[in-house]
Amino acid sequence: MAKRAQTKSKEAIRASLPAHGRGRELVSDAMARAAQLELLGWVRDDPDGVVRIHAEGPAGAPAQLVGLLQEAAGAGGVEVASVKVEGHEQFAVRGVSAGVFVVQEHQATAHHYDVRLEVDGVMRSWAVPKGPSLDPAVKRLAVQVPDHDTGHNSFEGAGHGGGVIIWDRGTYEQGGRVPWPEALDRGHAVFVLHGEKLSGGFALQRTGRGDPPQWLLIKRRDEHARPGSDVVAERPESVASGRTLADVIDG
Ligand code: MN
Repeated sequence: MAKRAQTKSKEAIRASLPAHGRGRELVSDAMARAAQLELLGWVRDDPDGVVRIHAEGPAGAPAQLVGLLQEAAGAGGVEVASVKVEGHEQFAVRGVSAGVFVVQEHQATAHHYDVRLEVDGVMRSWAVPKGPSLDPAVKRLAVQVPDHDTGHNSFEGAGHGGGVIIWDRGTYEQGGRVPWPEALDRGHAVFVLHGEKLSGGFALQRTGRGDPPQWLLIKRRDEHARPGSDVVAERPESVASGRTLADVIDG
């Protein structure tokens, strides 16, 4: 009940401001002002020259933030809309790389795809038996496996009667309402991939705290989603060598 009362006294806005080449300054201004005004949400310096903001907090504070930024930005063209309070627990900069990701197709005792995200210098890893999908209707089992070091990201080759290929790789952005790595600890992590085959928003949702913990990997609905597609079947080749896993194992 306390939470409900707290939500009622809060309000949220989405705003966009033309950056006029000062996007980075506006982002750091927004971070500083948001902290002063006790606002949560995010700010993003988009490639189209517009700085976009989601701000939520005490009534009046989101509008104050926009006013201050508008002053800093100088010109008009600012758009502000009231939106729902989403329950953010941080004020984050979006659209910045958090590190690398890699998906390694791996034939061991069982065939699977290792999805690895760089978090605090190590590769947090999940074994996904059926591989990632770009179809938001598909939920793929992802079994948490031990962290790997970043040196393993470039490994491709045969061995132990099986083999590994680098099926996809790139960088990723951390998203969601909760800061990382806490989001992973709490079992719900949202992120954006910039790979050669995988791109756009994904979510990892923990479904069981067993040993090993089980998660679901789900494509989020965005412009990179491809309903009905089967990317692991359509694009079987290594992004490093062009070879398939069978090519690598057969040598
Ligand atoms: Mn593996």
